[in-house]
Amino acid sequence: MNVLQVSAEIFPLLKTGGLADVAGALPQALNAAGCAVRVLLPGFAPILADLQDEQAPAHLVAPWGESVALRQGRLNSLNLQAYVIDVPHLYGREGTPYEDEQRQPFTDNDRRFALLGWVAARLAAGLDAHWQPQVVHSHDWHAALTGAYMAFLPPQRDRVASVYTVHNLAYQGLFAPRHFFELGLPAAAFSVDGLEFHGQLSFMKAGLFYADHITTVSPTYAREIQTSEQGCGLDGLLRTRAHDLTGILNGVDETVWDPARDMVIPERFDAVKPAGKVVCKAALQQQLGLTVQTQAPLFGVVSRLTEQKGLHLLLGVIDDLLARGGQLVVLGTGEAALEAAFLQCARAHPEAISVRIGYDEPYAHQIFAASDVTLVPSRFEPCGLTQMYGLKYGSLPLVHRVGGLADTVVDCALENLADGSANGFVFNRFDVPDMARAVARSFALYADSRQWRKVSTRAMRQRLGWDRAAQDYLALYRRLCH
Ligand code: ADP
Repeated sequence: MNVLQVSAEIFPLLKTGGLADVAGALPQALNAAGCAVRVLLPGFAPILADLQDEQAPAHLVAPWGESVALRQGRLNSLNLQAYVIDVPHLYGREGTPYEDEQRQPFTDNDRRFALLGWVAARLAAGLDAHWQPQVVHSHDWHAALTGAYMAFLPPQRDRVASVYTVHNLAYQGLFAPRHFFELGLPAAAFSVDGLEFHGQLSFMKAGLFYADHITTVSPTYAREIQTSEQGCGLDGLLRTRAHDLTGILNGVDETVWDPARDMVIPERFDAVKPAGKVVCKAALQQQLGLTVQTQAPLFGVVSRLTEQKGLHLLLGVIDDLLARGGQLVVLGTGEAALEAAFLQCARAHPEAISVRIGYDEPYAHQIFAASDVTLVPSRFEPCGLTQMYGLKYGSLPLVHRVGGLADTVVDCALENLADGSANGFVFNRFDVPDMARAVARSFALYADSRQWRKVSTRAMRQRLGWDRAAQDYLALYRRLCH
């Protein structure tokens, strides 16, 4: 089965969040399951630099008249066949893939990402004489116009199915309506039954409306986004598409996240030989100037510092955490107010709290390896990967019961300890007192070192790889193609 995966990011070349991890791991898992996956990506510098064994590029003209070179080759770091849209004027910029250095969205993001969908539809229509997809699988708003462009292709001999995965419904790709007319879609598409959303142009809505099938990244989030609380105004449309909406839980790329083989942590360990974790904890405490101790848990945060992630709740429990002798290590970047608040805590308690503002992949691994508890108190969380990385590294996740966090973490309540299902700490109400109670439970379990070892050993043994999700996607593709 030929599958074209369309995304704006791909690990390890370009990553701002979980989307990149999924976009990098899923093609490998699908290939292992018997698919032939190619990826379509924008020509950001690290992606172009990784492209090898290139064919002669195809030259296209975008709907608004701009010349586009479509390069095809192999991504060296992933050993993956790829199409890359090479338009230096659109992608060769400083800043993140989406924002300039002042953190403002680029004003032509509609064109920059509409191209992804437009080229995907051209490939679906047979642009490459040597390879044609049977399924085009696009990810998040950046690639969401794929289904819309495909819906307006002339009838084809072999139908190509479109799948659209929502990684986060909150980021929708909304643009002023005047941009619609440069995108080359028929006027009919700008309507309630199309990509019009309260007078604006919504890429997300295009994905939800036109794709043959919608998936999202956990079963619970698939249900939540059909409610007005979490539907971001799109719950009505999602309810009408309930039969074409599936939640498939993300996996962990175990070639990247495996404490037994991880070369960026000071000492390797696993469920059978856990001793290395103690070394990792001491090394990090020493490196950060924290008191080197093992009698209380070290809490870790690796996260975007945004409202979504619920970290203001953590600010509310820090005093309690410190009073109990705990320590906290934070790595993140995002909203200025949250960054400042965490930095202030670290300045006030340098022996117990360390905060690094920034994005640092190896340091993230070191935090999971060193910490005893991974904090993910998100207000909402489509899937969440860091709680799963925590499990793999024996850092028990402490989470709000929402989205994919609810699907992956089972609280250390007595009945769950007794039946062997417990693997972390879960709080139900999104408030400081409920999170504080979960933190108290984590200290109680930590004090019982035999139980703690039992639970963390079980966490490290959990099967979290991509093979299960790949089988689910493959079954979906097969269903759509028949
Ligand atoms: P989201 O995609 O909403 O940010 P996920 O939990 O799905 O959340 O994925 C986040 C990914 O980004 C994880 O791989 C996590 O380790 C990584 N990450 C987040 N912040 C940082 C950071 N400051 N430095 C390094 N990695 C980070």
